[in-house]
Parts: sequence; C-alpha cells; structure tokens
Amino acid sequence: MEIKSVMVIGAGQMGSGIAQVCAMAGYKVYLNDLKQEFIDKGLSRIEGNLSKQVEKERISQKDLIRGMDLVQGTTDLNDAKNVDIVIEAAVENMEVKCNLFSRLDEIAQDHTILATNTSSLPITEIAAVTKRPEKVIGMHFMNPVPVMKLVEIIKGLATTEETFNAVETLAKHLKKSPVEVNDFPGFVSNRILMPMINEAIYTVYEGVSSPEDIDQVMKLGMNHPMGPLTLADFIGLDTCLYIMETLQEGFGDDKYRPCPLLRKYVKAGWLGRKTGRGFYQYQD
Ligand code: NAD
Repeated sequence: MEIKSVMVIGAGQMGSGIAQVCAMAGYKVYLNDLKQEFIDKGLSRIEGNLSKQVEKERISQKDLIRGMDLVQGTTDLNDAKNVDIVIEAAVENMEVKCNLFSRLDEIAQDHTILATNTSSLPITEIAAVTKRPEKVIGMHFMNPVPVMKLVEIIKGLATTEETFNAVETLAKHLKKSPVEVNDFPGFVSNRILMPMINEAIYTVYEGVSSPEDIDQVMKLGMNHPMGPLTLADFIGLDTCLYIMETLQEGFGDDKYRPCPLLRKYVKAGWLGRKTGRGFYQYQD
C-alpha cells in the first residue's frame, strides 16, 4: 500500500516536527489539535524551523512556501477519513490515546494505518481498542524530529508485515533510518536510555558527584554528546519518571524503580528546561 496523505494528531513539540518532515517530503498533511491556538503555535514552530533552514541556504524560500502549503490545520478529527495514515502524537496518556484510536477506527477508511508516536505505552493494548489491530503500529520519532535520524517502528502482537512495510517505506521517504522493534516496555531506546538517566540521578542522590561532574564523565569519558542529566532536563523529568514507572510496572521488576530524587523534583514542579529548573537552571 502506498501512503500519499497523512494526519498528525497533536501539534506540540513532536507533532509539529512530524508534520514538518512529512510536508517537506511532499506529503499532504492534516495537523490536528484540540484548539486552533495550539495548531497555530505548531504551524509557527514549523515556519520558524523552515525559515532558519532558508537562512542557512539549506532550502529555498520556494521550498518553505511549498512545504507550508501542504500542511492544513484542523480541529476536526473527521478529516482522518481523507488520509492513508494517521500518526498520533498527543499527550502520553493511555486513556487519551485509547479514546482517540477508537474514534479514529470509526472515522478512517478501511485501508488507513493508525500509528502512534508513544514513547513507552504498549502498542498491542492501544490496538486492542480498534477493529483493525493488524493496521496499528508504533512510529517512535526522536526529539527534535527534523534533526534526529532514528525512527523505531514497533510491531504490536497483531501488526502485519504489510503494515510494517508501508510504514518503513514512509520513514525512508522522510529521510529517516527505521529500526524494527517488538512491543516490549520502553521498546529499545527508552529501555536502555532511561535506566542510565535514572542511575545518573541516583549518583546525585547518593552524593557521589555533582550533576556537572556526572555529565562531564559521560561526555568526556564515554563520548556522549550530551550528559545524562542535561538530557533528562531536555526530555522533561515528568516524562522520565513516567517511562521509569512504565518499565517497572511492565516488567514487574524493581530494578527499574525511579530514584526518589526524580520523584521529588517532579513533585516540586522542577521538570527541566520547560519549567526553567531541573538538574540545571535555565534563564529563558
Ligand atoms: P506536547 O505536550 O508538546 O504536545 C502534545 C499535543 O497534543 C498538545 O498540543 C495537546 O494539545 C495535543 N493533544 C492532547 N490531547 C489531544 C487530543 N485528544 N486530540 C488532539 N490533540 C491533543 O507533547 P510532545 O512532547 O509533543 O509528546 C507527544 C507524544 O510524543 C507523547 O506520546 C510523547 O510520549 C511522545 N514522544 C515525546 C518525545 C519528547 O522528547 N518530547 C519523544 C518521543 C516521543
């Protein structure tokens, strides 16, 4: 099956990035969110990103206009009937995602693939609320979407090869590097990354070293481009906590228990960059 048109649900950090790369690859994109103001914010984020690309002479002004023309904002979920794939990038909440998938299943044409950009929620469970579990799949982009090459493609229990192949081809057309993953908590990326971040937080909690020095060890000693605590602040400490809880619950193994300091910071509202304070403080 060839994908020609896309609907992206959620015009936030991830959704706007996904809409941008789809439009720049020539796909017609519907960008859906709950309110017009959220869509407008997403559209201006896309335009801002593309303007920077024009300044750097990576794309032309014509490319920018062509790309922006391909993105149509909509608050009406019924527009899902016009597309070959829906990529859901709404908030990381099982109830919200299940509700969306059962509505999309009613609206979308029979051939339409329903994909989710979830960081950690089980694809098989989301698929089970639809009558088309064979066409439900995980399409996990990395942040920031226009920059990061990886897309984890996660097969649920019932996902068919045909669905996988169509999504893999789409990812390649978006100039991404797809990796096939089965549906287990945290997939591959967060199953490995989050315990490392959690361990870095334990290292602060137990007074082994300061956040700056821990980040320095991982940057200079392990050649990581960014230290784990800087990365945790970038991802959002609430998201890190949520993923650790998903791993602990999903595997039933306390080796994934979130560090008490992570819980404390989240309770204090120190969520990282987005709130101006996490392991570091941010001015803007
Ligand atoms: P975000 O808060 O920036 O954006 C979420 C958007 O979804 C908001 O604009 C919100 O209004 C909208 N939304 C909420 N409920 C909706 C609904 N019912 N219908 C339509 N729109 C709705 O969040 P984000 O960081 O872009 O994350 C989105 C998804 O991507 C989550 O599942 C997250 O786990 C996943 N993800 C995030 C990252 C990351 O680093 N932030 C990386 C990979 C995957």
